[in-house]
Amino acid sequence: MEFPVRCYTCGAVIGDLYDQYKSLSKDKNPEQALNDLLVDRYCCRRMFLGHVEVMGTISKYPRI
Ligand SMILES: [Zn+2]
Repeated sequence: MEFPVRCYTCGAVIGDLYDQYKSLSKDKNPEQALNDLLVDRYCCRRMFLGHVEVMGTISKYPRI
């Protein structure tokens, strides 16, 4: 599944921050990366922390 464009709970646009979050979280811990991106609400923070990239795995299996 792709990273969602909006937070499921509050509807804030967060999809544009995901690439920055990935690059920042390589160097820092995720808490500091989210603080730097000014993602303050915990509903939005969990969208980043709970996301698992599975597109690489799914694309190995073709549709029947
Ligand atoms: Zn939110």
